[in-house]
Amino acid sequence: MITSKLLAEAEGLLHGFTERQGGGSDAPYASLNLAYHVGDDAVVVDANHALLAEQFGYAPERLVHMRQVHSDRIVRCTPEMGFESRPECDALMTDIGGQPLMVMVADCTPVLLFDPRRRAVAAVHAGRAGALKNIVGKTVAAMHDAYGSNPADLLAVLGPSIGSCCYEIGPEVAAEVEAAGCGTALSLRDGRRYLDVNRILVQQLEAAGLSAGHIDLLAACTACATDRFFSYRAEGGTTGRQAGVIVLK
Ligand SMILES: [Zn+2]
Repeated sequence: MITSKLLAEAEGLLHGFTERQGGGSDAPYASLNLAYHVGDDAVVVDANHALLAEQFGYAPERLVHMRQVHSDRIVRCTPEMGFESRPECDALMTDIGGQPLMVMVADCTPVLLFDPRRRAVAAVHAGRAGALKNIVGKTVAAMHDAYGSNPADLLAVLGPSIGSCCYEIGPEVAAEVEAAGCGTALSLRDGRRYLDVNRILVQQLEAAGLSAGHIDLLAACTACATDRFFSYRAEGGTTGRQAGVIVLK
């Protein structure tokens, strides 16, 4: 489990980013796969979730996770929501203690947000598509609307995700990135184009009002380290999912 110093030092919450070891799934999902839609045995995935819940100390049925669709839809959790709710969205937020939120990824960036003043949290799925829709900026705005969060108070952590070292893109995608006003996230090496999604996300969080010192970018690249992380790209599309988890005590 990887944690951010920024959030670890904050009071009254637990958070973490899982790695792929330590679970019960077989290859190509070995071993702590948390996703049900990837072809893994659901009974084993249940057991992996139970293991994680025990590590964190939350009740497995309280966890809210998402049917992620690369959208900019944000769901405010209600007390009755839990493991079976699985709303179709790409960001969850809550101010309810003991209601853990999870975002699952294998190259996309898991973003966790915490408002220490209003005591609210969010978990965001931000891949290229979500970044181009500014899902992180929209989540900051949604936390303001729902909980009165002042963006300047928010802390954000970007978890392990594919780096610009490995994220090669074609000319059509590069044009799309340019058109969205995110051209500074593009780079060219040996005639190949690469995209730095995290650079877009950091820029968007800053534009939304977070200070640079309130944004922690965990630099681990999922595609560079398939021994530690699931990577959709590096593993040809068939693999498991790791997760970012955040829960108010
Ligand atoms: Zn890499």
